[in-house]
Amino acid sequence: MHELSMVKAVIDALDDLYEANEWSAIKSVTLRVGAMRQVIPHILTFAFTASIKGTNLEGAELVIIPVPIEFLCRSCGGRWGESDLGYLCPHCGSKDVDMLQGMEMDIDSLEVEE
Ligand SMILES: [Zn+2]
Repeated sequence: MHELSMVKAVIDALDDLYEANEWSAIKSVTLRVGAMRQVIPHILTFAFTASIKGTNLEGAELVIIPVPIEFLCRSCGGRWGESDLGYLCPHCGSKDVDMLQGMEMDIDSLEVEE
């Protein structure tokens, strides 16, 4: 369950913010999670809820915004989102491609009590 190690990193970051800002509670956390992370949302939520017990974040709600994969071809400028095509441009066959999005594991927003 790699979701557990992912939420631990997020919880550590939030705990630092909580201490630094002297909030009295974190009510909800919205995360942007890229499809390349291969996270199963309900497992992520379960891991989050289990991991915040007894921490400063206890009681916080987790909201997940899924971010689809998007590739960009540097040769022809083509874009595509199917991960099974991967690092080969379906338009021109070039291997010179960038992943624009899909690896996110970012805190998008927080609802806190000051
Ligand atoms: Zn191309």
